Amino acid sequence: MLVISISATAGPSGRCCWRSRQLRASEAHIQVIDTTGQHVYQPGLLYLPFNQQDPHGIVRPTRRLLHKRIELLEGTVESIDVAARSVAVSGDSFAYDWLVLATGAQLEPERVPGLDGAHHFYDMEHALGLRETLRNFKGGRIVVGPARKTYKCPSAPLEFVLLLNDHLRRQGLRERTELYYFSPHPAIFGGERLARIMQPLFEARGILTALNFNLEEIDNSTLHAHGGASLEFDLAVVVPPHGVGQAISEAGLGDDGWVSADPYTLEVTAQEQIFALGDVTDLDVPKTGAVAHYQAQAVVDGLVAGIRGAGRVRPYNGRVMCLVETGEGRATIMSFDYDKEGRTSPPNRYYHWAKAVVNRLYWITIPTGRV
Ligand SMILES: Cc1cc2nc3c(=O)[nH]c(=O)nc-3n(C[C@H](O)[C@H](O)[C@H](O)COP(=O)(O)OP(=O)(O)OC[C@H]3O[C@@H](n4cnc5c(N)ncnc54)[C@H](O)[C@@H]3O)c2cc1C
Repeated sequence: MLVISISATAGPSGRCCWRSRQLRASEAHIQVIDTTGQHVYQPGLLYLPFNQQDPHGIVRPTRRLLHKRIELLEGTVESIDVAARSVAVSGDSFAYDWLVLATGAQLEPERVPGLDGAHHFYDMEHALGLRETLRNFKGGRIVVGPARKTYKCPSAPLEFVLLLNDHLRRQGLRERTELYYFSPHPAIFGGERLARIMQPLFEARGILTALNFNLEEIDNSTLHAHGGASLEFDLAVVVPPHGVGQAISEAGLGDDGWVSADPYTLEVTAQEQIFALGDVTDLDVPKTGAVAHYQAQAVVDGLVAGIRGAGRVRPYNGRVMCLVETGEGRATIMSFDYDKEGRTSPPNRYYHWAKAVVNRLYWITIPTGRV
């Protein structure tokens, strides 16, 4: 039997792959297809622009993270034929019995005219470019925000502004810099509880806000929003629009590209023997690595039960857990699930160090399925 998990190791969804080793070699051949063969630990990108993270520390060859029984194929899935149960990779066709979609969210800067010239920290190249720019920054107006409402790690741009505020103070540049946060949401964060924690922090630090700001285009040194609002800048840090990429989009597995999946079992709607997890789904949970990690258990259970014809499936309960930097060596926590509102906490040093520990232990815990 053949199980193809598209890049299921490349992200935190990799737990899915590792745990699938509970299937015997005679039961399944597991193949992972991944574009780059490199796994980037994206939460580490937040710290790169401030030189607080070694870039080499957040990249590992995917092969090293995989169980030896799992085959890795480096290549890009160009199309998915669900009727024929096959995927096309670099012109070759690969048949599958079961398919796991874990291709994440892709950055699509081309959807906003002029965005190509702006900075961001959502991939390695741009995070390092921003580090260089900040090294040479002498003061002026910096604007930071997401271009659209849907993007991974929704708290990351807020965390970035608060860390940027600390960075500018350390460099003696804060007095000479006006900091602006813009957002398409009516509050500084889509979720009410985190917005309530963040708003006073922004006010205390003199970080200005432009809300309901739906970015339309960037020309020279001005952001233009739908409806006529505009923001001039000396440095713009803009999270690009996200999408699913060509293969997923053309497979037509959801209304607006994002793959429609059962919120508990992660089975793709109206399809057989296809699962989706992580950022690629249309589920009403934040696109975070922690979510992908928690979802992986339900997918593995579903695969094992499906292949063996029996077995207990532990459903994903909507669990979300984020440690959120709030600057000045503090962080807060946000956790909830489908049924419980969960908790947040006033920012404290404990959660900041907890986040540092999670980041340090990532390689030996999450992709290997040990946690
Ligand atoms: C700056 C930043 C900070 C973040 N901070 C946090 C945090 O603190 N906590 C947290 O939980 N999450 C955080 N996240 C979000 C987290 O990184 C993502 O939600 C998580 O990586 C999603 O996992 P995934 O497996 O769905 O997708 P990804 O990790 O993006 O993996 C998808 C993989 O699929 C491959 N791929 C895509 N298309 C194809 C194709 N057609 N063929 C073959 N391979 C393909 C890609 O190359 C990639 O390797 C952060 C993200 C960023 C950018």
